[in-house]
Amino acid sequence: MTAPAASSPARTRVAPSPTGDPHVGTAYMSLFDVVWARKTGGQFVLRIEDTDRNRLVEGSEDQVLSTLKWLGLTYDEGPDVGGPYAPYKQSERLDTYQPFVEQLIAEGHAYHCWCSSERLAEMRAEQQASKQAVTGYDRLCYGKTREERAALPGFNENPVVRMLIPDDVPLVFEDIIRGQVKAPRPDDQVILKADGFPTYHLAVVVDDHLMNITTVVRGEEWISSTPKHILLYQWLGWELPQFAHMPLLRNTDKSKISKRKNPAARLLWFKEQGYLPEALINFLSLLCYPPVRESEVQTLQEFIDTFEWSKVSTGGPIFDLKKLDWLNGVYIRELAVEELADRVIEHETMITGRWSEMDDAQRALVVAAMPLVRERMTLLGDAAPALEFLFTPDADLVHEPESIAKLKEDAPQVLDAALAALEDLVEWNHEAIQGALREALVDQLGLKPKFAFAPVRVGITGRQVSPPLFESMELLGRESSLARMRALRQKVGA
Ligand code: GLU
Repeated sequence: MTAPAASSPARTRVAPSPTGDPHVGTAYMSLFDVVWARKTGGQFVLRIEDTDRNRLVEGSEDQVLSTLKWLGLTYDEGPDVGGPYAPYKQSERLDTYQPFVEQLIAEGHAYHCWCSSERLAEMRAEQQASKQAVTGYDRLCYGKTREERAALPGFNENPVVRMLIPDDVPLVFEDIIRGQVKAPRPDDQVILKADGFPTYHLAVVVDDHLMNITTVVRGEEWISSTPKHILLYQWLGWELPQFAHMPLLRNTDKSKISKRKNPAARLLWFKEQGYLPEALINFLSLLCYPPVRESEVQTLQEFIDTFEWSKVSTGGPIFDLKKLDWLNGVYIRELAVEELADRVIEHETMITGRWSEMDDAQRALVVAAMPLVRERMTLLGDAAPALEFLFTPDADLVHEPESIAKLKEDAPQVLDAALAALEDLVEWNHEAIQGALREALVDQLGLKPKFAFAPVRVGITGRQVSPPLFESMELLGRESSLARMRALRQKVGA
């Protein structure tokens, strides 16, 4: 097999069905679509496959559009941006499919089927019971007129249209990742449903052809459908696109990633958790593909520049969230503090609503506080709880009882000495604060640094564990710092 060269512009597409909130697989396919389209100077198309009317979920389409944009997987054509092959939503293209169905019937490649669902269920049950080698539709309707069929049991008024799969259906096809692939023999697939909507199999072929798609990137679960699609291309006299069947994403226990079992199957989960889109893209690009460099940190552009289909491995990439956590931290630390602060505020607003109405001064405080927390951040949501003490009015700050309980007996003396040292401090910055406290607590009281600052920390932040103390005090300001230490001093008694 020769993998396609990157010379002619490719047209790729992702074709999600809006049946729930978007699956991480949609982002995964879109990534490779974007990569190949950009690498070859082509286009990436988003098409909404909404022909299965029973499974539509309100709002799902908008979520697909917005999550792809969030990820920076920008499509060149799609339902909301239009394009030369509009409409990009299958429910708006019903007239497009009809003539092809008629052509296939007229040419003997497809036929009407009036079998009721009860009859089909009975047929399947019998086939199973008798352990027949060949299962699938028994072609009761094939070759019959409506009247002839109506005379038999299990008749349904509104027919479907089925493909007449020939005995010599080609079962082997070329895949640009896998080479020659063999798929099982298909059943007489329904291509037009009783409600007048095409099934996926017809619509996908018609649309991929009419939209000039050159490279069909999709999950390996579609391999078994590909012979049906190839037949349709052949019957309609159309050139085949290239097929790239990507491996299924798997949990660490190797099971297929599904929304029921794994929250990470939901694309929105990553946004809710506070992952950065850049980190998720980096993570997805490593799932079945060697890293650009040993560190595994790579941009989308670097992935595009070095991409080759022959390097995609089919071994069922494992979804290891620990690696994503690590990457997220790396990307968080690469952001400029202003940018990081914006993202933290946006995330906090989305998840808790609590930073939704920040004024300029508060925003500036978040920016100034970022260096204090970003070293330890894994997720965007880690920042706000750690910094809450900065945004709490002094009177509302809770000194956690469990943190107070852990202080040593000398806490009152330590606080007194700290207060005395800080009250007259000329300059209020973290170096001066640290110098004054060291002198008063370590040098003069002879405390070990490890214990010396604990009462001050609990006083300032309410907790034993906090961002760096002296920098926190600088940001909080002298008045609040002293007021909080005095409040704790009162609580710890004599
Ligand atoms: N609508 C199909 C899905 O949601 C698209 C499959 C394909 O890309 O051909 O999985």
